[in-house]
Amino acid sequence: MHLERRILITGGAGFIGSFLCERLLESGANVLCADNFFTGTRTNVAHLLSHPRFELMRHDVCFPLYVEVDEIYNMACPASPIHYQFDPVQTTKTSVHGAINMLGLAKRVKAKILQASTSEVYGDPAVHPQPEEYWGNVNPIGPRSCYDEGKRCAETLFFDYHRQHKLRIKVARIFNTYGPRMHPNDGRVVSNFIVQALKGEDITLYGDGQQTRSFCYVDDLVRGLISLMDTGDDITGPINIGNPGEFTIRQLAEQVIDLTGSKSKLVFMPLPQDDPKQRQPNIEKAREILGWDPEVRLRDGLTKTIAYFDGMLSDKLAAK
Ligand code: NAD
Ligand code: UDP
Repeated sequence: MHLERRILITGGAGFIGSFLCERLLESGANVLCADNFFTGTRTNVAHLLSHPRFELMRHDVCFPLYVEVDEIYNMACPASPIHYQFDPVQTTKTSVHGAINMLGLAKRVKAKILQASTSEVYGDPAVHPQPEEYWGNVNPIGPRSCYDEGKRCAETLFFDYHRQHKLRIKVARIFNTYGPRMHPNDGRVVSNFIVQALKGEDITLYGDGQQTRSFCYVDDLVRGLISLMDTGDDITGPINIGNPGEFTIRQLAEQVIDLTGSKSKLVFMPLPQDDPKQRQPNIEKAREILGWDPEVRLRDGLTKTIAYFDGMLSDKLAAK
């Protein structure tokens, strides 16, 4: 008999997954982290390896997994454009075959399952800010499509398993999230700008830097995901989880320069194809249903993230 909840986190050795592992262990659960280490690392969960309720397993979600668990957080999928465009076919497989395998597992063991979906399902949105009812504006054949359409198909699968097999599902649409343990070379804007500023290198603004994003600190995001998982069976989502504070990419660069005291200069580079012009979540549903609101201001979250990358770069220098 199992008195403690057993929770599977796919992609648990990644940036967001590793914080989820931490928080769920703190809540008293048994945590099984399954990851193929494509973008995640053992280092992200090294501090958990000796925890008696933590288990790390190398596994690719494109293959079936036979374990006994009560809840599944399906986080496995490369999230940054550089990483998901490295092997786009594998990215679609991870989202689609991964969802089928994890939904099949959830069906067999009657587990509740949460999908890490994304604001990318809205594409380059024609509605602003984006409510969950908006169906999106996604290019099905562009360089971002492997990620966007993979995640959209995963949502379809989640809702069909819910309707067809009465599975208990939770779909979270995650907006840009940042914090410590982001991959330093994954090309995402927050990690790029911080690393460039700390090294005194040019800060690379794509396009004119007027495109906007809304940045959520990882602690807030993880709190939102856990409260969504803990809702009653009637709540399926999709629910937007993100910080509605909207900034231009140029404003972000200026904040990073200010907080690091860097002498880096802003340089302008071509805008990648299909780069969304604006993105801001409407989080009324998360507020109403989860009683959730982000608490960490961009300035405070950036300060913590800068401290993390500063430590990482100093360790690298010391090791040379
Ligand atoms: P990440 O790349 O740090 O984490 C993804 C993890 O999944 C990594 O540990 C990677 O090794 C693992 N993985 C990839 N393919 C796998 C496979 N086939 N089998 C098993 N493991 C696999 O990215 P993240 O930012 O932590 O994102 C986590 C999840 O949240 C992803 O599903 C992503 O799409 C979603 N999301 C993230 C953001 C964000 O801003 N960070 C925004 C929207 C959605
Ligand atoms: N971006 C930028 N410079 C960089 C990296 C990204 O100007 O060095 C821009 C990018 O073009 C996009 C925004 O920052 O408009 C966010 O990019 P990211 O890859 O972090 O996430 P996404 O586009 O998936 O929201």
